[in-house]
This record gives sequence, structure tokens and C-alpha cells, in this order.
Amino acid sequence: MANKGQIGVTTENIFPVIKQFLYSDHEIFLRELVANAVDATQKMKALATSGDCKEELGDLQVHIELDEKEKTLKIIDNGIGMTEEEVDKYINQIAFSSAGEFLEKYKDQIGNIIGHFGLGFYSAFMVSKKVTIETLSWKEGAKAVKWSCDGSPAYEMEEIEKADRGTVITLYLDDDSTEYANKTRIDMLLQKYCKFMPVPIVFGKEQEWKDSKYVDTDKDKVINAVEPLWTKAPSELKDEDYQNFYRTLFPMNEEPLFWIHLNVDYPFNLTGILYFPKLKDRVAVERNKISLYCNQMFVTDHVDNIVPEFMTLLHGVIDSPDIPLNVSRSYLQSDAAVKKISTYITKKVADRLEGIFKDERAQLEAKWDNLKLFIEYGMLSDEKFCERALKFALLKNTDGKYFSLDEYKSAVESTQTDKDKKLVYLYATNVEEQYAFIEAAKNKGYDVLLMDCELDSHYVNLLEQKLTDTRFARVDSDAVENLIPKEDKVKLEMKEDERYDLENLFKAVLPEGNDYYVVGDNLGADTAPILITQNEFMRRYREMSALGGGMNFYGEMPKSYNITVNMEHPLVGKIMEGKPVGDVKADEHKAELKTYAEGNQTLHQMVDLALLANGMLKGKALSDFIARSQELLDRQLIKD
Ligand code: ADP
Repeated sequence: MANKGQIGVTTENIFPVIKQFLYSDHEIFLRELVANAVDATQKMKALATSGDCKEELGDLQVHIELDEKEKTLKIIDNGIGMTEEEVDKYINQIAFSSAGEFLEKYKDQIGNIIGHFGLGFYSAFMVSKKVTIETLSWKEGAKAVKWSCDGSPAYEMEEIEKADRGTVITLYLDDDSTEYANKTRIDMLLQKYCKFMPVPIVFGKEQEWKDSKYVDTDKDKVINAVEPLWTKAPSELKDEDYQNFYRTLFPMNEEPLFWIHLNVDYPFNLTGILYFPKLKDRVAVERNKISLYCNQMFVTDHVDNIVPEFMTLLHGVIDSPDIPLNVSRSYLQSDAAVKKISTYITKKVADRLEGIFKDERAQLEAKWDNLKLFIEYGMLSDEKFCERALKFALLKNTDGKYFSLDEYKSAVESTQTDKDKKLVYLYATNVEEQYAFIEAAKNKGYDVLLMDCELDSHYVNLLEQKLTDTRFARVDSDAVENLIPKEDKVKLEMKEDERYDLENLFKAVLPEGNDYYVVGDNLGADTAPILITQNEFMRRYREMSALGGGMNFYGEMPKSYNITVNMEHPLVGKIMEGKPVGDVKADEHKAELKTYAEGNQTLHQMVDLALLANGMLKGKALSDFIARSQELLDRQLIKD
């Protein structure tokens, strides 16, 4: 006896709505149907465990069967099944009243929420022109029923013969959804959504290589791992297990540095494994490598509302049934449960890093260069993480030695405290380019840190705020004597006109496009005649605004350099002796100085050598310098 009826939807026809709004996420139908099959199977297991059901369970599995020719897809389970009343209740009268309205409101994130709003089964209609359910309940004396529906709100229901307990859902794929009548496509979808579901899911047969091609064996192919690593107890697992699991998640990636196994059941439920990947620079950073699961069912790769921003640099899996999925993204950010989860994860990551610092210091040092971008980013963007990280963050010096912040303070305190009792941390950003400055500092007994990470200009600022009475100075920001002033230095007294002339002479031969601040100083007869340095703060602000620190004013300014002229150097003395004398206010005097400077080979040579030492001599200036040097050598030869 066939039974006809109308599905209990108040929105006149829900199917066009489903199709229209779920367009981009059609593929999730498979996840929804497999998830239902898995649920029914697990309920069966639970009934057996509780003793409510005493019959033989058989192999509890979900089978997916595709007929590419007929364009049908079957999802078969031997779970609890449904009686006729249950089909009527759960499938026909499902609470659809608010569905239309709901879909309209949340069409953007519908992919995530569909399964959590009782629309799961109906998503089958996104890809099917007809769907049938054949089901036999586990309950004693139950009769098997077949429900079918062609996408209009009308359905048919009839009693059928069905030997095995459980449910067969058959999708007759729609003409515009025939892409799913493809084994490779279904394989991909199962891999994406079902790879860690908790019940074995069988699709096709294992293959073997025979007669120079792959052929099916008679062994079922299970596509999922029913007990993924994160569901196991950390105490049972070895490093190798974590590394292997990482490889199955990201076959193309390099080995992870460290990992954390998350496992909490109060006040919320959350498990997962997060890996610290090797990070070299921001360009190579891969985000969205954390997948969110809900009871082993894949939900999304976008966890940016669930973990703090810097954590999205980590890779791995989070599984939590407690993350509300049926809400909008902006709501998620302010959700108290999600905030707790986010705080918990941050704390766990900090705990783990502190643990590594304490117990595996050598490992931490070995991997620090690849870890440091993550930690600095975290410290810069998350206050709580920063407070924790001040304990385990490392500093590396130009000799490749690592220190914690406390250790470093003790190491340099006695030598690098200035006259105002401030600790001065010297650093270089490039060992090659700043070689001469680094050597000069080391010769003076100072230590030089290496700060070559792209976030370091921001990071240096942060450390200055966090470490009391400490400032940072790049080794080339001043003459080595002035980097850590130990006593008040008497400024060299120069007459106004002498100062004016000095400035104009040097500016005449320095490359255009930069700002120069020329000063005379007594640095001793055997020190270089000219020293070019870059003011620490001007340079840092420029770099920070280039990185997007909101200080664009500095970013647009020309570079500015301090030109320290060593008045005690004999060559400088000679140039000053020979310069034209005149009234500093007169334009002719300025012109005279310019002509004198431009014609003075010694001045050119001196300035070029200083530029060369700073890597600033380029292009025509460099080739002029080479030609002039050659000429000087030739002249020397004639003299000899
Ligand atoms: P949800 O799974 O979110 O409850 P669905 O529309 O997917 O919503 O399913 C509605 C109900 O139909 C389920 O709660 C379940 O009781 C029943 N159901 C669906 N699929 C199956 C199945 N394969 N076996 C047994 N019951 C099922």
C-alpha cells in the first residue's frame, strides 16, 4: 500500500531555495549523508554496549556505491535504521518552518551550518532530481519502508522487503550535477570531508598492479582513519606518530619543528594537534592550515575566528563539538565559549614552548631561527602570549650563541650600561653589510645581537617597552665610542663659519637624494676620517612604516645619515686648510666651496671610501671611484 503526502514545510517549496543558496557548497551533501550514516551506526554501537540490543551487529561500516552510467550514488549503512513513524517524524515533518528565513539570513556561511540545523538530509536535493530512502529499523518486528521524493514537496512512502538492518539512501543525480557521477570526484570529496570519521567508510576496492595495470582486488577500500591521532591519549604516542600524522595531513611540507597535543574536556570539549611549521619569512607563510572538525567530521579550514591571528600560522587539527557553527562569523568572535577556547589554545601553546625551553633547550636553539617569526608575531599581536614568551624567547648574537632575555641581561650588564644606567643592546641586521661596525663593537668588548627577521624593527620596539631601562642601538647607528656613552662627552667646539664650510664641502660630494647631518668630531688621528651612520630612531621608524606600522610619514621621508668628520685626521686638516675663505652669508662663498670640493680628489676619495664601507657606493659613483683609484695608483707608480 503506497502512502502519499506532503513534506511538512511551511515555505512552499524549499528545494529551489536550497539549490539557489547553497550553490557554491553543493558538495557538502556527501558529508551530510555520510555523517547521518555514521551517526546511525554509532547509535547502533551504543545500543549494543548498553545491552538494549542483543542481536548480532555484523561489521559496522558505511558503504558508498557509485554507478557512473546510471548516475546514481548510494550511501548504505547498517545502523539503527528508521521505522515508518520515524521517517515520518524525522524526514517529513522536520522543523522547516524557519528554514527559508534562515537560509536567506546566513547564505554566506551556510556550508558550515547546514548540518547543524536539521537540513542535513535535505542537502541531497542540491544535487539530485530524486532521492529514495530504504530503511529497516533495528527494533524488533519493524517493517522496512521506502520513501521517495522527486524534489517537489510531495513524497511517497511504501512498505518494502529489506533483509538487512539499516538504511540505503539513493541519489538520482540531477542533470546539472553529473560531475558527482565520477569516481575521482567522489574520492576527493570523501578525502576532504570524511577522512577521519569514526566508522569505516568503504568506497570501491583496493587495487593491485597486475598485467601492467591497476586492477580491483576483492578487498574493500576503507577511505578513512577511524581513530585519528588526536583522539588517542598523548601518553601512548611517540614522536614518530606525530611526524607521520603530519605527513598524512601535509605530504608536501617539511618536517614540523614541534607539536602540541590539545586535550580538554572541561569547561569545553576540545582535542587536536597543532604543529609549528618551519617559517622562514612571511612570504612563504601558509595560513589556513588548521582544519576544524566536529566529532571527526570536517567543518572548515578557516579557524581565524577561533584562534588568535598569529596562531593561524600553525598547522594541524582542532576538533570540538562546542564551537557554535550555526552563527555568523562576527558573532563567533564575541562568543564567550569561543573566547575561552581561544584563550585555552594560546595558553597551551605558551605552556608547550616554555616546556621546550626548560627541558629541551638544545632543540629550541637548533630550531629557533625557524620558530622565531611565529613567536615574535605572537608577542607583537597578543599581550597575554607576550607576557609568557618573555620567559622563553631567545636572542641570538652575531657569533650564533643563544640567550634568554634574562641570560642576556646578565651577560652584558657590566659592559654595556651607559652613563644614564641604561642597558644598551647592540644589534646588527646584516652581518656582511655591517661587518666593520660589528668588529669595532666586539673589539671594544661589546656583544652584538643578530636581528635579521623581518619583524625585528617592531620587535626591538616591543622589547624596549617590556624590558626596563634597556634600549637597542644598531651597531652602525653611531661611532663605536658613542654607542654606549659612559660619560658626558664634551662636544667639539667649532666656529660657526668653520661648521658651515665643513657641511657645504661634504654635501657637495655626497650622493643626492638623502639628508645629511654633517658634524665635526675628534676621533683620533688613526681613526677613519669619515664615519657614516644612520640615526637609530629615524631608521627604525622608516622600517616600521615600510612594514605597515601606521607611520607613513616616516616612510616617505628621505633617508637621513649622520656624517661624522674626524677633525683630527691629517687629510681632513689638509682639506680644511686649502678651502676658500669667505663670508658664510654670501652666495658666492657657497659656490666657491662647491667648486673647491668638486675639484678635490682627496675629498672625493675619502667620501667614496666611507660610502663603500657602508655599501652605499653604486652605479656611476662606483665606477668613477674605481677610475680615480686607478689614476692615483698610476701616479704613485710614476713617483716611485
Ligand atoms: P540531523 O542529522 O541534523 O538531525 P538530518 O536532516 O540530516 O538532520 O536528519 C534528520 C534525522 O533523520 C536524523 O536526526 C536521524 O534521526 C534521521 N536519519 C537521517 N539519516 C539517517 C540514517 N542513515 N539512518 C537512521 N536515521 C537517519
